[in-house]
Amino acid sequence: MKKLEGKVAVVTGASKGIGAGIAKQLAAEGAAVVVNYSSSRKGADLVVQEITEKGGKAIAVGANVAKKAEIEKLFAETKKAFGKVDILVNNAGIYEFLPLENITEEHFTKQFNLNVLGLLLTTQEAVKHFTDQGGSIINISSVAGRDGVPGASVYSSTKGAVNTITLALAKELGPKKIRVNGVAPGLVVTEGTDVLGVSSPENDFHKAYVAQTAVGRVGKPHDIATVTAFLASDDSSWVSGETWYVSGGYR
Ligand code: NAP
Repeated sequence: MKKLEGKVAVVTGASKGIGAGIAKQLAAEGAAVVVNYSSSRKGADLVVQEITEKGGKAIAVGANVAKKAEIEKLFAETKKAFGKVDILVNNAGIYEFLPLENITEEHFTKQFNLNVLGLLLTTQEAVKHFTDQGGSIINISSVAGRDGVPGASVYSSTKGAVNTITLALAKELGPKKIRVNGVAPGLVVTEGTDVLGVSSPENDFHKAYVAQTAVGRVGKPHDIATVTAFLASDDSSWVSGETWYVSGGYR
């Protein structure tokens, strides 16, 4: 029997990048997966198609997870399709790099509204749909939340907040048998890092990152997905309140 057979997972921001990798991995391990997207319906449909072609179960559901009403819709659709929630992966997030002198209220609010408030509101709604068997929540953080990235103080602090939320909610939700953990990726090449301009091995940020890893390379979504699937499964049943750095040994 596969590790996640009979489980239902919701992955936010799964139309591309790390979220898409996680959705595919959870499905490969047997979970029925809700592939959430915000603007990329096509990307989400492709992820669903890839899963179903391999015999897995998945649906795409559009919802901006920075908005309470849309989050409620996401879980109503999940309930309708699969009846419950066992696993939530809070992956949807944005990263905008701006030095101190260029920070604006809009830059701050946009990132905190999704990366922090959205994560809290999504978790709040998800918990209503977990069964009395509990389950697993995985928050996608970043090495930026531990180390701080110069020129990205706002983004870094959203992930610092995510790490603290993981600690607090692990304790708060423990009595409901819900484990809460974090996965903090280092640089992983995705559509988002393409936009930021750091995907290319010729880019200075990319080169500096690789030089600071033990393993000597940047990450792929699959590197994050396998660790997330482990934390989603009962194999990690005595792990809660941890944030695991999955970064190629970046220091
Ligand atoms: P990405 O390639 O930019 O993909 C972002 C995903 O989030 C997309 O599926 C996007 O959906 C979705 N999304 C954005 N805003 C949303 C919203 N309001 N509601 C629902 N979904 C939304 O990003 P990524 O690089 O895979 O990063 C994913 C997560 O990993 C983020 O939390 C990021 O902070 C974290 N992370 C990434 C790296 C890295 O190097 N890539 C490193 C550390 C941490 P649509 O396309 O449909 O809008």
